[in-house]
Amino acid sequence: MNVGPAGVRANLWTLIRAQALARHWELSDALFAEIDGFALVQGWAISRRRTRHSYRDPRFDRVVACSTCGGEGKGEGGHACRTCKGDGLLNFCEPPQRRRTA
Ligand SMILES: [Zn+2]
Repeated sequence: MNVGPAGVRANLWTLIRAQALARHWELSDALFAEIDGFALVQGWAISRRRTRHSYRDPRFDRVVACSTCGGEGKGEGGHACRTCKGDGLLNFCEPPQRRRTA
């Protein structure tokens, strides 16, 4: 009688498949270990699929296109946008700039 890891009766094909998947994950861990370590140190999010690892910097969630200039960074007359100062992007986690009173 074949009994799988969950204690359920399993046939030979199921056991071979489970072992192949386990070896696949082990190989994936070994191949991506250095890259995953770098991503963890950088604070990036890692999403894993069967044959690929995707990395994403969560800081990009804080940035949006400037609504005043549409992300172009240019305001009236071709000058730099006053809202984003020509960057075209706004960062939600930066403290707002103080307005100068002259
Ligand atoms: Zn702007």
